[in-house]
Amino acid sequence: MMKPRWLHILMLLFFIIFSVFLPVKGSAMSEAQQKIFQRKIYYFNAEACGATAPDTSGDVSADPETASTTLGCCQNDSSTQLSGRNPAEKVWNFFIDKGLSNIQVAGIMGNLQVESSFSPTAMYPSTHGTDPTVDVAWGLGQWTNGKAVGVKRDSGASGSILSLATQLDMMWWELNNRSPTGQQHIINKLKTIHNLSEAVIFWQIYYEGSGTQGRAQRQAAAITWKNHATGGSGSSTPATADATGGDCGSSDDSSSSDTGDGKVEFASGANLPGKPVTDVTTDYLKKVSGIYGKTLICTTGTNHDKYTVDGNISDHYSGHACDIGMSANHGTDDGPVGDAIMKACLVAAGDSPKEAAKTAKIRNGPVQTRTNNGLRIQCIWGTNAGGNHHNHVHIGARPG
Ligand SMILES: [Zn+2]
Repeated sequence: MMKPRWLHILMLLFFIIFSVFLPVKGSAMSEAQQKIFQRKIYYFNAEACGATAPDTSGDVSADPETASTTLGCCQNDSSTQLSGRNPAEKVWNFFIDKGLSNIQVAGIMGNLQVESSFSPTAMYPSTHGTDPTVDVAWGLGQWTNGKAVGVKRDSGASGSILSLATQLDMMWWELNNRSPTGQQHIINKLKTIHNLSEAVIFWQIYYEGSGTQGRAQRQAAAITWKNHATGGSGSSTPATADATGGDCGSSDDSSSSDTGDGKVEFASGANLPGKPVTDVTTDYLKKVSGIYGKTLICTTGTNHDKYTVDGNISDHYSGHACDIGMSANHGTDDGPVGDAIMKACLVAAGDSPKEAAKTAKIRNGPVQTRTNNGLRIQCIWGTNAGGNHHNHVHIGARPG
């Protein structure tokens, strides 16, 4: 993990260019993000990852057991879904999602910045291609002596060893088991650190094992990352910028302004001509979208039978429901995308995220009806109750 000084300077330059030209813009947070926001821990924007994800090489959405539904985007060939618009944001969000604090993650970031600039294919020296078995400093953590191969095997991390998600999984395993320096369970100690400088030094000594090399650059990069996340640098706005008013849709906030920044689009033919979905329902859908973290496509709004399969007048017909079809929303029947949308529907209705996640995974259960904030809300998914709801999430919201 030794490197000449010029490489550090080069990496720092890249970092500066990167921070100035790729500012993170504010957006709605996922439910997990909101929860962590309450603890003053910051995610970078998880939005738009579908557009920029370079590591999308497979579709894990067909397997609800292995796919994480926390963030609902940026799938890759690892079972871990990364969110963020670039590798650095993905690394940040990965560790935040694991429950580490801003300080702890910034300490990691400062080191990884200098080690690999967050590139899973960073090699030093670079003359060996990307072969992980040869003795180079290799990948995100700059594993040496071909160690990465053993770590991948021991950790059981799935996916390509060249992918960022896989390497993050490997790293997380090392923190919880055996670090590259041979230390056991360094995560426990890391979690007790609340001082940035200490976090940087701890990682450099116990993870990287690189003595004091590039210490100043690591510290400087860590400070920049911490500021980047908390808005202290002024050069960019973190994902939390529009949540500072406290109206980011937390489950126990029942104010009517609580609609988040989510977006809803109506597929052509979703509504009957001249008969749009009502504003109150659209607002609820936006709230769900904000929690889900992605635009929701309403595939059936008012263009629906007047009656439900049970003979009641459908909420659709009166403009108070939308079906979120799986194929239009990049999901699969009974798959994790539907689980995530269902969960968001329930969280928006006041369920705790934990409870909602559990309920969303139920198959062939009942219609979930809630009353919240003056609305009667129905979330239906993964069941034949009220019709076939395996291929779409029904979201209904009407006054009363
Ligand atoms: Zn429906």
